[in-house]
Amino acid sequence: MSNIIDGKALSASLKEEMKGRVARLGEEYGRVPCLAVIIVGDNPASRSYVRGKIKATEVTGMGSRLIELPEDVTEGRLLEVIAGLNADDGVDGILVQLPLPEHIDEDRVIDAIAIEKDVDGFHPQNVSRLWLGRKCIVPCTPKGIIKMIETTGIGIAGKKAVVVGRSNIVGKPVAKLLLDRNATVTIAHSRTADLAAVCRDADILVVAVGRPKMVTGAMVKDGAVVIDVGINRGEDGKLVGDVDFESALKVAGWITPVPGGVGPMTITMLMENTIECFLDRVRK
Ligand code: NDP
Repeated sequence: MSNIIDGKALSASLKEEMKGRVARLGEEYGRVPCLAVIIVGDNPASRSYVRGKIKATEVTGMGSRLIELPEDVTEGRLLEVIAGLNADDGVDGILVQLPLPEHIDEDRVIDAIAIEKDVDGFHPQNVSRLWLGRKCIVPCTPKGIIKMIETTGIGIAGKKAVVVGRSNIVGKPVAKLLLDRNATVTIAHSRTADLAAVCRDADILVVAVGRPKMVTGAMVKDGAVVIDVGINRGEDGKLVGDVDFESALKVAGWITPVPGGVGPMTITMLMENTIECFLDRVRK
């Protein structure tokens, strides 16, 4: 029988702590950390993520700027907006909600964000610092995943970790963070032979694929920690993860639910990154 890692409850308690911290920072520095969020167009999923992020700034007592641009905004205009926020001393973190419309080059946009305000940790300089083991802004989803694994108390060092998925925003960085904590890490992907056997070998299994219920209980080692990153919308409109929760629950030692697992932790880590960016800037 598994223990459920309750991302919603963990997030709520972390945000409560942050609220006190933000208030103290406000007294000490005369202003609170401020996150700027840029959204382009009307994608409903993006709108809902952005709402969640702005709400989290309110809950923690931080400042926020929401910049809404039309779907047909030019890349040049978007870059101008970013340049303005880069130069704005009252802004500590800048997040551009992805995906962007096809006529805009995502790489060029990410590259334009000032590295010290890159709260998502997607800027190539942040990515290279992460892989070099230097001080950097750690991307939010991987950072939240590590915190969730740490709450289980299993100890990451020496464990076999399997990460299914090799995206730049989840799979690769979470693999690096597990490696930094001395796990023996395997990264699996769509060309991995006998994925079931690879997964069954994992003490820690992180699944970030984007395919509903792809990992079943039969692919999970007895007692493993299972982190389900997937957010998929089922035919009934409900959110479903990449792991078949019902069958995996019977085998895993610990498991994250969807919704209420990695999702809320991602937003909470965004708040933590905004505070860290603020501190780095005010202490310079
Ligand atoms: P990507 O689509 O960028 O990457 C998916 C990865 O899964 C790829 O590496 C791909 O392999 C691999 N893959 C696809 N099919 C298979 C398969 N049959 N077997 C093994 N591996 C496979 O996705 P993201 O990393 O951006 O996102 C993954 C999921 O996590 C999505 O559901 C997304 O919505 C969710 N997500 C959730 C977040 C949260 O806060 N909870 C944050 C970010 C993402 P290959 O490289 O070979 O193509």
